[in-house]
Amino acid sequence: MSQFVWVVLAMLSGILMGVYLAYLLRTTGNQKKFERLNHRYFKGLNYLLNDESDKAIDVFIRLAETSQETFEPQLALGNLYRRKGEVDRAIKLHQSLIAQAKLPENYRTRALLAIGKDYMSAGLLDRAEVLFSELVEIEAHTPEALLALTDIYQQEQDWQEAIRSAKRYQSVSDRQMHIPISHYYCELADLSCIQDDVEGAEQYLASALHSDPHCIRAILTQAEIKSKQGDDKTAQSLYQSAIKADKDYLPLFIDDMAQTYERLDQGAELESMLLSLIEQYHGVSPVLTLARWYEKEYGVEKAAAFVEGQLQKRASVRGLDTLLELNLSKQVDDGQTYFQVLKSMVDQLLEGKPKLRCRKCGFGAKQKHWQCPSCKNWGVVKPIYGLESE
Ligand SMILES: [Zn+2]
Repeated sequence: MSQFVWVVLAMLSGILMGVYLAYLLRTTGNQKKFERLNHRYFKGLNYLLNDESDKAIDVFIRLAETSQETFEPQLALGNLYRRKGEVDRAIKLHQSLIAQAKLPENYRTRALLAIGKDYMSAGLLDRAEVLFSELVEIEAHTPEALLALTDIYQQEQDWQEAIRSAKRYQSVSDRQMHIPISHYYCELADLSCIQDDVEGAEQYLASALHSDPHCIRAILTQAEIKSKQGDDKTAQSLYQSAIKADKDYLPLFIDDMAQTYERLDQGAELESMLLSLIEQYHGVSPVLTLARWYEKEYGVEKAAAFVEGQLQKRASVRGLDTLLELNLSKQVDDGQTYFQVLKSMVDQLLEGKPKLRCRKCGFGAKQKHWQCPSCKNWGVVKPIYGLESE
């Protein structure tokens, strides 16, 4: 948040606090109390406007400890501090609300919820977890507390607990959690694979697909397991399911898929599968996979002619890069320097360019991320389509 926006919001919050205070006390006819609080309030507001946050906080904390009437604006001001990144101040202000004697229970739980969020912003996940668990226990702000707990367990990579809280959250809110839940199961499957527990991994993957039948990550992990077990036939049909589930991810697995055909000695089937994919898919990956196979099977001439023909139909810098590489490997002296210069320029152009982008927040990545490192959404970082990418 920019400094200007913050100042405007702080002023607005302060003014609203004053109006609210005046309204409450005037309507209750308690003139003396109004004057006392009014004086303290304007003192705090003055500090706030002069950018003396610590002094302002002290005044507002004293106000919060003595008067329930200022609860709402105090809570909002604390939230503003958190959003500005001044978490210590937010915690101090919110804690002062809880310190009030005879605070009604619904006020106390709202302040607890705010402190839990403050702790999360400060990275104090253990403390936040205790507060949110308490709120769930007493059935106060249950959906918000469960969502926060899910986030905490996700950050702690405690996938079992993340699944439990996400399922509970789904049962008390309108929001669907089947996509994150399927990824939590996939995380558990990955851990099982690392520990060579294939059976355990398969069970988790089945749960992932039960949660989200289109979970391409689960399908691809199943295919990898089958390939490693030498069951290329099953792996092949799983890769076909992955194409049906989400074609956008094709560049991430097309080479692995092609290898299953090669190991099964199904060259003709591989060629017809890739040609059919080229018809339906607008990216360049199937073209490059087929070119590599043509090169291996029939030599560089056929591969280069094929890529050249395809590039006339779909412009692609990656395709051009492959074409130059094929021409360089022809071992003809004529024009080699020219191709080398071009290839080096194209390499420089492609170097450092992200291959994947988050469809939610625009984060660019060179490597696969099932969870976006920026916006934390699952299954949204996909290959980029365009001249310089797919
Ligand atoms: Zn994102």
